[in-house]
Order: sequence, then C-alpha cells, then structure tokens
Amino acid sequence: MIHMGLIGFPLAHSYSQRLHERALDVLGLEGKYHLWEIPPLPQGKEELISKLKDLREGHLKGANVTIPHKRSVLYFVDRLTPMAQAVGAVNTLYLDPQRGHVVGENTDSPGFWVDVRKVLLTVRKGEKPRALILGAGGAARAATHALLTHGWSVSIAARRISQAESVAKHFGDQGRAVEVYHLSERASLKLEACRLIVNATPVGMAPDTASSPWPQSWEFPKKALVYDLVYNPAQTLFMRQAKGVGLEVRNGLGMLVEQAALAFKRWTGAEPPRREMLEVVR
Ligand code: NAP
Repeated sequence: MIHMGLIGFPLAHSYSQRLHERALDVLGLEGKYHLWEIPPLPQGKEELISKLKDLREGHLKGANVTIPHKRSVLYFVDRLTPMAQAVGAVNTLYLDPQRGHVVGENTDSPGFWVDVRKVLLTVRKGEKPRALILGAGGAARAATHALLTHGWSVSIAARRISQAESVAKHFGDQGRAVEVYHLSERASLKLEACRLIVNATPVGMAPDTASSPWPQSWEFPKKALVYDLVYNPAQTLFMRQAKGVGLEVRNGLGMLVEQAALAFKRWTGAEPPRREMLEVVR
C-alpha cells in the first residue's frame, strides 16, 4: 500500500489528490494520496516535523509541499537536491532509504519548463529573450530558475519589493542576474521587449475570478506568450485580457500535471500516465 500526500494550508481546492490517485489507478497500484492541512509556522511546526518523521521512518512513500511551506520546509529536511537548492524552494519530499534521509526536491521548475516550451514563440538564434514574472513567491522562484537555466533574462515585478529582492539575491549569489520592480513601476519596465509574461501570483484564482494581476495602466507587448500558473478557472481574467489583444495564452494545468508526474515517478519508480492525469483534472 503506497501512502503519499500533500502538506499545505489550506488544501480544499487542491487537484493533487485526483491527479495522483488517477495515476495509481491507471497503473493498478494500491495506494492513497492524503491531504495534510498544516497551518503556517510557528503554529504548524510540530506537525510539519512529525510528518517528516513519518517519511523518515518509511511510513510514507513521499509528500508534496505547497503554500505556505515550500520555503519553511527547507530548514527541516536532511538534504536538498541540487535542483531544490538552486530554486530555493521545495515542493516534493522523498526518502533516501540508504541513508535514512528526507530529501527536498523541486519539480515545479522542470514542470514549468516542460510545459512552457511546448508553446513558446520561436526564439531567434543568438537572441536572449526577456521574461517578466509577476509575483515573487515559491512558484516565481521555480519559473525564474527554469528561464535563467535556459538562457532567458528575467525581470520580476512584485507588490513587496523586499520579497523580489530576496529572490534576486538568491540567484545573484549563483552569478545569475534578475531585475526587480515594484508593480507600480511601469515606466522603468521594458514591457515591449518581453516575449513571455508569467503570472506567479494567486490573483484570478477561484473564487476570486474577477481579479487580474496585470495592472490596469500597463499595455501588453505586441508579441508575447502569456502563461498563467493559475489553472482554476481554466481561462482567467488575465488570460482573457491578453487574448483580447491577440496574444497567445496558456494556463498552468500542463505544469501542474508535469510537476506531479515527476514527483510520482520519484516515489514509485513507475512511468506516470500523463495523458490520463491531464484528463482527470481537465
Ligand atoms: P506564494 O509563495 O504564496 O507566492 C505568491 C506571490 O504572489 C507572492 O509574491 C505574493 O505577494 C503575490 N501576491 C499574492 N496576492 C497578490 C496580489 N493581490 N497582488 C500582487 N501580488 C500578490 O505562492 P506560490 O507557491 O508562488 O503560488 C503562486 C500561484 O501559482 C498560486 O496560484 C499557485 O496555485 C500557483 N502554482 C501553480 C503551479 C502549477 O503547477 N500550475 C505550481 C505552483 C504554484 P505577498 O507575499 O506580498 O502576498
């Protein structure tokens, strides 16, 4: 019996259980994907430590980690993979049985890249394309890491400049420059040069579907892909705004499936049935 699950708060709207249980079903594996609501630290500290202990003692195959623990869990794992270290956030935990270590991994970054590259506009040889990321939390870190790794220059626009600066410092320490802006700084942003705009904030997510992270006074570039990490609703207001001016848009469903598939493979060793996983959340 395979036990795995999701650590986060709140979890009522998560699709992860459906995704992973569908994968178990298709592969004929017996198991359960649990939802563990653990409040933010310091309140949830003991519960978080206890969940990691369950993993360390082999009672669980693995766990996903979501808001608000993607960064706080960094301090409780025994080791980080190079990917999680480079991103500076963890969304997947697994056990290294040889050493009895709980390992923190990040599958958001490759999950984002695998999906976004399917629809990216062609980039001319020698061009260093520019991306703008809205938000500076865990998902913004993952997208920034993926884009920097694949030769993009990245600007982050956030409402809390100190948070964006801490992301820039994290990547700056790795010798990778990231520009940061406050969401009110329209004038200094080189919007027209952006080939990709990523919403890495929860703005527009159900039930708050009438909101958009795109400031009203900003104009979209003429040629860019707009990628919204939000996937519920499937068409966000932000996507509709971008589509309205002729831009190509994509929601975060493909990334959701890919990051889950990579975690599932890590835990079970089995090839995840991506098509069926996508169908069940679509
Ligand atoms: P997070 O760590 O909490 O970061 C959220 C970011 O959005 C923070 O910078 C936050 O700023 C900002 N933000 C929140 N409300 C805002 C508002 N009204 N205006 C401007 N900025 C605002 O969350 P996360 O893990 O990065 O996730 C962000 C979104 O991506 C969520 O909707 C999540 O579901 C989605 N996501 C999707 C996938 C996928 O597979 N498709 C994977 C990961 C995440 P403050 O800190 O100031 O609040």
